Amino acid sequence: MAWRCSGATNKELIANLKSGGIFHSDRVMKAMAAVDRGNYVRDKSDAYKDSPQPIGHGATISAPHMHAYASEHLLPYLRPGARVLDIGSGSGYLAAVLHHLVSPGGKVVGIEHIPELAEWSIGNLKRDGLGEALDKGEIVIVAGDGREGWKDGGPYDAIHVGAAAPTVPPALLEQLASPGRMFIPVGSWDQYIEHIDKDDKGHVTKQKVMGVRYVPLTDRDKQVESSRMR
Ligand code: SAH
Repeated sequence: MAWRCSGATNKELIANLKSGGIFHSDRVMKAMAAVDRGNYVRDKSDAYKDSPQPIGHGATISAPHMHAYASEHLLPYLRPGARVLDIGSGSGYLAAVLHHLVSPGGKVVGIEHIPELAEWSIGNLKRDGLGEALDKGEIVIVAGDGREGWKDGGPYDAIHVGAAAPTVPPALLEQLASPGRMFIPVGSWDQYIEHIDKDDKGHVTKQKVMGVRYVPLTDRDKQVESSRMR
């Protein structure tokens, strides 16, 4: 169904995602319309297709409908001024969307363990008009292991994990605010998105929300090696 939402321009992609029933929130639609996916892909001819695309180093930019779902699942925690952590930030696309959702006054920290991708994503964000947000520290891209989170920027109202973890990394749970929500694909072969909700008393509940297929949240060397073997 999702590929029917593809377009020839960013505007068309967003309009087709809307008519395809992907958006339930105008806020998410507007935030995605403010980000030009053409600035975050390697091959411009694929930019407005509703599919994941390779971005090198064994990574992919997720399909636009998945970015929309992730934003909508976290939306109750994405108020202006909120702090957000995006693990496996890859192309930087979702960090940009999240930035628009928490502006003004919010902060998005993206962590990517492939330094070349982290570097590339900063260039993508600048091309997309977010150089000032980077300069002001409203968007921070860090090269490092996302399983450790980024304590300095926390606690986070929302944590998005863009790669599948065998189990929920304890550091991420620790850095989740009370209240706060984590959106994380969990599992190796059978993967599910889980919502991990922490209430205002620090009580944690988990809910499986949908079956998915993500690249693994793993060691950098393992990812680079398996991408060479493909
Ligand atoms: N959401 C991003 C990327 C999704 S692909 C986008 O749409 O562009 C998943 C990303 O997670 C890849 O870029 C991969 O390099 C990264 N990744 C995998 N394991 C990681 C880890 N342990 N720490 C940080 N990043 C990781």
